[in-house]
Amino acid sequence: MKIHRNYNLKHLNTLSVDCCCDQYVEINSLADLEALPTDIKITEMLVLGSGSNLLLTQDINRFVVHIKPRRHITIVDNLVVAWAGTEWNDLVNWTVDRNLGGIENLAGIPGLVGAAPFQNIGAYGTEIKDVLVWVEVYNWHTGLYHRLSNEECMFTYRHSVFKYHDQPWIISRIGLDLRPNSPLNLSYGNLQEKFSNDFKPSYRQVADEVLKIRNSKLPDPNRLPNAGSFFKNPIINAQIVKRIQRRFKDIPIFDTNKANEFKTSAAWLLEQCGFKGHREGDAGFYDKHALILVNHGDATGADLLRMSKMAKRAVKNKFSIELEEEVRIL
Ligand SMILES: Cc1cc2nc3c(=O)[nH]c(=O)nc-3n(C[C@H](O)[C@H](O)[C@H](O)COP(=O)(O)OP(=O)(O)OC[C@H]3O[C@@H](n4cnc5c(N)ncnc54)[C@H](O)[C@@H]3O)c2cc1C
Repeated sequence: MKIHRNYNLKHLNTLSVDCCCDQYVEINSLADLEALPTDIKITEMLVLGSGSNLLLTQDINRFVVHIKPRRHITIVDNLVVAWAGTEWNDLVNWTVDRNLGGIENLAGIPGLVGAAPFQNIGAYGTEIKDVLVWVEVYNWHTGLYHRLSNEECMFTYRHSVFKYHDQPWIISRIGLDLRPNSPLNLSYGNLQEKFSNDFKPSYRQVADEVLKIRNSKLPDPNRLPNAGSFFKNPIINAQIVKRIQRRFKDIPIFDTNKANEFKTSAAWLLEQCGFKGHREGDAGFYDKHALILVNHGDATGADLLRMSKMAKRAVKNKFSIELEEEVRIL
């Protein structure tokens, strides 16, 4: 195992922040995982996939374990089992091409399979938790593998047990229950419009449509560096909804199917505060979608952090709502 020192991560994070880490290793297989030093503290490690959900604010004093993209997908006991290094979208393609349904709405999400349970990725009314049966983790302190059930992963909206960082775990494989007769979820507006009630699209058709919608809305990180939605959509109670609606009648409110819990749109809140397209130097928010923090060129991690904090403060002042970052900040 080759350990690189003072390794540059600019090309390994989609916000394209120029920064270095202390130590860096590449992981291509389970054997590579098993060769990791066992004495690295949890706070000194960073597991890195495609870097599409990270804001690196400065050089990091960490041992970076970079899972390299490599596709490995099999079917075991009727479950689709994928290695952490598989590109998420490759997995979606692999499954819809075999007419296995369940993750077609998650087509086009950047990143690797290993990161998908970490924040319970979701889009267009579907989350990975809906089909995930188990997550296998490698414990680099003990050298043992362990399987967590869906329940043990404690999934909620863009959250899971993995976000607590209290176990020395690297996600190595996942098992998904994907079937030829899985129900479609076409509840999201644009999908509903595209596929009328009397026409049942294939999983491939849904995935293709999702890709089309995403490409028309989201900036390609290779052209305009970004990390997708920077903040989560806030969950608020009925009292807060009422209070805000007195002054802002058109605030979008969505049901969460939980008692006294509603979701509002972080993009809308940011837009009301003037952040859509707002730019200072090379740090700014995308001009077609206020939720996406972008690096127009040479923004540093500190510039991007400052911009995100400014936006957060503005929303707090105007709406008394505390935005929570979806992106991990280091
Ligand atoms: C244009 C764009 C659109 C996006 N759209 C969506 C969307 O629709 N829905 C959505 O949910 N997300 C979206 N994202 C966010 C991102 O793509 C996902 O969070 C993705 O799962 C991150 O994968 P990654 O490999 O890049 O992870 P990284 O950014 O490398 O890592 C993210 C976190 O996961 C941890 N991690 C990564 N791999 C492992 C592992 N093997 N074991 C343990 N921990 C690990 C890392 O330590 C880090 O904390 C979008 C991002 C972009 C840039």
